[in-house]
Amino acid sequence: MNFIAQALNLSKSAAKRLEERNILRKALVKHPFFADIEEAFRFEKKFGQFEEGTVVVKAKDTLKVFRGFPKIRRALLLHPTIKKHFGSREVVLEEKMNGYNVRIVKIGENLYAITRRGLICPYTTEKARILIDDEFFRDYPDYMLCCEAVGKASPYVPTDVYGIETLDFFLFDVRDGRTNKPVTIDEKKEIAEKYNLKLAEIIATVSADDIEKMREVLEKLDRNRREGVVFKDRKMELNPLKYTTSYANQSDLMYAFRFFGEYGRDFMLSRVIREAFQSFEFEEVEKEFNERCLRLGKAILEPMIESIKACKRGEMVYEESELVFENQEVIELFKMHLKLLGVDFTIEVLDDGRVRLKRFMRSTSDRIRGILQGSPWK
Ligand code: ATP
Ligand code: MG
Repeated sequence: MNFIAQALNLSKSAAKRLEERNILRKALVKHPFFADIEEAFRFEKKFGQFEEGTVVVKAKDTLKVFRGFPKIRRALLLHPTIKKHFGSREVVLEEKMNGYNVRIVKIGENLYAITRRGLICPYTTEKARILIDDEFFRDYPDYMLCCEAVGKASPYVPTDVYGIETLDFFLFDVRDGRTNKPVTIDEKKEIAEKYNLKLAEIIATVSADDIEKMREVLEKLDRNRREGVVFKDRKMELNPLKYTTSYANQSDLMYAFRFFGEYGRDFMLSRVIREAFQSFEFEEVEKEFNERCLRLGKAILEPMIESIKACKRGEMVYEESELVFENQEVIELFKMHLKLLGVDFTIEVLDDGRVRLKRFMRSTSDRIRGILQGSPWK
């Protein structure tokens, strides 16, 4: 473990505190697919300046640090929040894509994909090695390509709104692995162009008081079943802010109530509060307001009733996705990875070679089963 203190330049007392707080976890399952890595640990919690999800790697002849992706604070109102935060700076509206956060990095000879909490995911790594040209890392060896991984064949957030059959990566930040400093939006665009990387769409650049334009962008995203916007300072000197569409708030609610035993109250309550502030700010007429109420109510009740019915039929409640692997050995490695994550799952190889992943929601299933058998709620 000594290499961690060395890699992070920790003082003796800081190194001791890190050990006492017991927040280091294994970042991967050891395997020849991860051949460049001798050891890797992740931070399960924030420690000093180091974000949760920070990874420290011991490779053949180097030590590498990849800082965790920073939290993005949320605006519940466009006015006055955006103006208050960005002042007179140019504000860039980027599409907030709905997938999972991946930092693509180079260690030794190969690319590696790190998920939000700091785990090196075999499935995502396999896709990154196929889809991302590692030319970028010749010029920026210690940088991270921060991307949203989206598509139908996603083990964590499967979605078909982007028309991507398997999985693809959309770049939204380029950061120095050691300091977490991002490049400017203009430099990011140049990088994307030069190394042929797809960007999360840069939709518009506006002044911080152009609420009308922001509303227009958000309404269009909402109609297209998109998640929302991340507001960024063009120079990337201020932290970004995020804002989600009603569509996204309600689909989160559907998901959370389908698996209500797994999801916390905070998750649900925060989505309802977002709807309230949006409805207030958008000054809806009665018809629009009534529609929102109906959709919101359905988003809560319908999925729960589906889960109840599934349990009544004797099934477990589960989430399903279909994955596509290139290498057989990565399937086995991915199974070990899911065990490390503590997921309750089954994996089944289908005739066409696709792999069906089912994640069982034990807490929701047990809860419902008990109630159906006459147990009280508490
Ligand atoms: P956070 O801790 O940042 O609040 P969260 O897990 O609650 O994250 P989200 O509400 O999905 O996540 O919002 C932040 C995430 O949005 C980022 O971590 C990133 O994965 C994703 N994202 C998608 N598109 C973009 C974009 N254009 N710019 C920045 N982040 C984006
Ligand atoms: Mg997300």
